[in-house]
Amino acid sequence: MTRAEIIALLNLQGDKIAELYKYGCEARIKHVGKKVYLRGIVELSNICAKNCLYCGIRRDNAALPRYEMSVEEIIQAALWAHESGYGSIVLQSGERTDEKFISLIESALSAISKQTEGKLAVTLSLGEQTRATYKRWLAAGARRYLLRIETSDPQLYGKLHPSDHSFDFRLECLHTLKELGYQLGTGVMIGLPYQTIEQLADDILFFKKMDVDMIGMGPYIAYDGAPLAELGYDKERNLELALKMIAIARLELLDVNIAATTALQALHPEGRELGIKAGANVVMPNMTDVKYRQLYKLYDGKPCLDENAEQCRGCLERRIISAGGEIAPGDPGDPLHFRRRIQRNKYL
Ligand code: SAM
Ligand code: SF4
Repeated sequence: MTRAEIIALLNLQGDKIAELYKYGCEARIKHVGKKVYLRGIVELSNICAKNCLYCGIRRDNAALPRYEMSVEEIIQAALWAHESGYGSIVLQSGERTDEKFISLIESALSAISKQTEGKLAVTLSLGEQTRATYKRWLAAGARRYLLRIETSDPQLYGKLHPSDHSFDFRLECLHTLKELGYQLGTGVMIGLPYQTIEQLADDILFFKKMDVDMIGMGPYIAYDGAPLAELGYDKERNLELALKMIAIARLELLDVNIAATTALQALHPEGRELGIKAGANVVMPNMTDVKYRQLYKLYDGKPCLDENAEQCRGCLERRIISAGGEIAPGDPGDPLHFRRRIQRNKYL
């Protein structure tokens, strides 16, 4: 699609919107099949060295008690996932670059890889790191990395972050991850203050240009107390735009994995089903211990705060089926796009 065509789709109104979702859903079934993959998410720490102006666990949120799971707790969560038939998990946390943190992740990855004989695919979502750190984690068993660019517009990025946060370095990290051989995921927040429809269209073109394997994007939701919250946001508009972005990303990128993120459900009780119906093929049940979950609040209204991992999984499986998807127990669900990309590069 051209930029103008994407803008026109983002501006659709009335009955035409449902038609766009229908095309997104059909494209999902045609290009990646009916299976919807589960990625159990472990929110392993809310300690963060950064200060993104939108985020609830930013460094300057002094009211928030901080936690870090032990290596044993992380391994235990991963083994539970493996034994319960998950093919993959995501380890996510606030961003830290100290050696203690790097080696905590490294030790957890090595043990998970050994004890599951490499059968549990691990995605990391641990922010910006050096090439050496990404290499260590890859060698220890990580396979995928999710690093949202947040917005592909450097000027808008500058308005959402303090001046010592660098758009260029984030972009460089994405290139490094790809060069090292990770399955690469990125994404953006949708409906951010100052964000225009044109910038969202450019985000879709950015995903295409970066030739990513996975997309994890969702609506922006304010966190009361974060500096950006003062500017407000429109829940209905953000939900609708996020679903349109999923459908358009599916139509434009075809064989990538696209997540129906938790933030969708924070805005609508059936947000994740709507995401699947618009073209998403991945959902992320929360596996974080309930005692930590309350403390990993990125935005207000985060759902499922008092459900345990078993309940979250059962609930999401029902949601997938009700949205017309199929469960794929034990399947790591490697993005088809990644396999094709690697194959294509062999012949270049
Ligand atoms: N710290 C790592 C990083 O920033 O890449 C990983 C964890 S971070 C909490 C994961 C994602 O949460 C971010 O990439 C951002 O898009 C999203 N996020 C943070 N605050 C949010 C908000 N208020 N609304 C929606 N998404 C938010
Ligand atoms: Fe930290 Fe990530 Fe939140 Fe930014 S988005 S403050 S890096 S946890």
